Amino acid sequence: MNAPALATTDGMVTDAKPVTVAIRKIGIIGAGQMGNGIAHVAAQAGYRVAISDLKAENFDKAIATITRNMARQVSKGMMKDADMSSAIGRIEYAPNFEAFGDTDLVIEAATEEETVKRRIFQDLCPKLKKSAIVASNTSSISITRLASVTDRPEKFIGIHFMNPVPVMALVELIRGIATDDATFVETRKFVETLGKSIAVSEDFPAFIVNRILLPMINEAVYTLYEGVGTVDSIDKALKLGANHPMGPLELADFIGLDTCLSVMQVLHMGLSDSKYRPCPLLVKYVEAGWLGRKAKRGFYDYRGDKPVPTR
Ligand code: NAD
Repeated sequence: MNAPALATTDGMVTDAKPVTVAIRKIGIIGAGQMGNGIAHVAAQAGYRVAISDLKAENFDKAIATITRNMARQVSKGMMKDADMSSAIGRIEYAPNFEAFGDTDLVIEAATEEETVKRRIFQDLCPKLKKSAIVASNTSSISITRLASVTDRPEKFIGIHFMNPVPVMALVELIRGIATDDATFVETRKFVETLGKSIAVSEDFPAFIVNRILLPMINEAVYTLYEGVGTVDSIDKALKLGANHPMGPLELADFIGLDTCLSVMQVLHMGLSDSKYRPCPLLVKYVEAGWLGRKAKRGFYDYRGDKPVPTR
């Protein structure tokens, strides 16, 4: 295979001389919102990609989403039609972890639950090449703790993409206590070939972006819970009053309320500070299965033509 091309932050693949990376094929665990976005940018940059999920149908949904999103890039002149077909052709389904045996880097993007992730890493590592780098896209969980259940803590790293991956320019890189320099340098080169900008964060709960963003979202849910404002007025207030492109409740639905709750729980437990206490109303929405856009209901109901506030 040719060396991966270089993508710019607007998703356009350029003819610029590619950064040389030893990574050729990547594995992705979890074909949800983040998994499909990571597959999109990696395949677009020239990498071969294998994706696994608990449910095979989620792989089909991911391919449909990637196809729709790439078609949009083609219609905007950001990508060539032929490049779209070859990028999609580079993505395959991994029915089990044996299918990751020839990957150079595996990025875990499964549900934000530590027990789920620990289990994945324990099952995955024996199936990998010794040289393979293992990464987690976790929004909040300790990289050092996840690395400790693997056979290669020195080759384990946090690669935290932002949602939606093809659009967002930033990736946070998080070294665990044992991550070695070679792993960090190789991962940084890989992320650069995707055209993303990097912010390096120390390994503390929720890193940088979510340490700041999620308490704001949680406060917006408290504002709703205490009756200070409605869904509409809270989102309007932050959009027009603070110039945010999305209101905090709209953003919570976009992230996924289960993920928002998990991040707040990690902050609350990890920093032992009551200021991170998850709002009981956020808990209630998650208990109802109203997880936001991906469940078609959250602080808004997405089942009709346009989103309608649920409170
Ligand atoms: P999602 O719910 O859309 O997708 C998770 C996927 O993982 C699902 O398809 C599920 O079937 C699959 N899965 C669960 N257990 C699995 C297992 N054992 N093996 C294989 N697949 C499994 O969630 P998401 O929003 O894509 O989030 C995934 C990860 O990315 C989480 O760690 C989350 O914190 C992180 N993240 C999310 C966002 C965001 O805005 N949603 C942003 C950055 C990082």
